[in-house]
Amino acid sequence: MATERDDQAPGGSGAQEGARGGTETRLQRGAGQAPTGPQVLTGANVVLPTGTVKGGQLAVEGRRITGTPPAGARRIDVTGHWLVPGFVDIHNHGGGGASFSGTAEDILTAIRTHRAHGTTTLVASTVTDEMDLLVRQAGLLSELAEQGDIAGIHFEGPFISPCRKGAHSEELLRDPDPAEVRKLIDAARGKAAMVTLAAELPGGIDSVRLLAEHGVIAAIGHTDASYEQTVEAIDAGATVATHLFNAMPALNHRAPGPIAALLEDERVTVELINDGVHLHPAALELAFRHAGAERVAFITDAMDAAGTGDGRYMLGPLEVEVSEGVARLVEGGSIAGSTLTLDRAFQRAVTVDKLPVEDAVTALSANPARLLGLSDRIGSLEPGKDADLVLLDADFALKGVMRQGEWVVAPQLP
Ligand SMILES: [Zn+2]
Repeated sequence: MATERDDQAPGGSGAQEGARGGTETRLQRGAGQAPTGPQVLTGANVVLPTGTVKGGQLAVEGRRITGTPPAGARRIDVTGHWLVPGFVDIHNHGGGGASFSGTAEDILTAIRTHRAHGTTTLVASTVTDEMDLLVRQAGLLSELAEQGDIAGIHFEGPFISPCRKGAHSEELLRDPDPAEVRKLIDAARGKAAMVTLAAELPGGIDSVRLLAEHGVIAAIGHTDASYEQTVEAIDAGATVATHLFNAMPALNHRAPGPIAALLEDERVTVELINDGVHLHPAALELAFRHAGAERVAFITDAMDAAGTGDGRYMLGPLEVEVSEGVARLVEGGSIAGSTLTLDRAFQRAVTVDKLPVEDAVTALSANPARLLGLSDRIGSLEPGKDADLVLLDADFALKGVMRQGEWVVAPQLP
């Protein structure tokens, strides 16, 4: 990978040791690295917010997309390929053998792994753990968010239902006490992006309100809520369904539960894990038909094994066995996150689920960018926005990744 890191930046004395770890680790371009010169990608199917332009071109200057090709720009012929916006993942626990619950080094490994698969923006997700550890991890992750390496922090747990705990430690779960929710928001120092909680638990609705007031996304998930309780949570300000269908009661005709409430409400965006394991294709189609592409966000919910291979891994404090790409808890056998990367989610959406390319782009880039409040900068290929883009071949296999005008994966052309 072309990215580099300054592990030994100056000034990292003992002054900041302790909870925050005082990391100076960086993933951003190093001081002496020459910026990529202006370039124009030509001949591609360029997926714009207004539709796909066949045989179109896209010009990049510095870190941004530009309307007119700059003089002297390098021309790269990508005829027959697709150009789509960089993917945005709002729910991701790790990859490349490392997790967002680990050290700064681990976090950077996970970021780098997903970038190589087209995810140019991601929110780092934690899993249920001791509050003290979550507070400490929030401090570390907030530093990386400040450096621009991640777009924010998603706390998945501990405020979730023991009935729907999935791969979270039951003994560490707790009711969503607003004071404790507040503690996590504060520890994230302005970088808390989302909290997944079970709003039917005591303190749930007040916690949703608190999150909404602080501009943090309240996401309903790992929940045993009824339809009515879910409606109440949405009215209180919840706007995301954490991996819809997974870790919540199934749709039942007499007790429709959270799925119906989350799907029908225009204010809610539903996360879907499109790995062919977490969802039957018909469930995915149901969600798309009902919510429309504008209200779907494809996520990975990836754990350490994403971008690596089968074997034993940790998910927070729990041991996970990955076999044939499916991650399951060693104890109990629950599905424990995915090994998905968003390039595969995209390819599957278009080739298996037969979604229009434009809808896949909406669900992988535009919607999550909007949710994060970053639409002015990322999420679509438009002049003035960051040159975050993914180059795909005619079969939608990844052939290049550019982030902020620099090739993370150089174009692999025939
Ligand atoms: Zn998750």
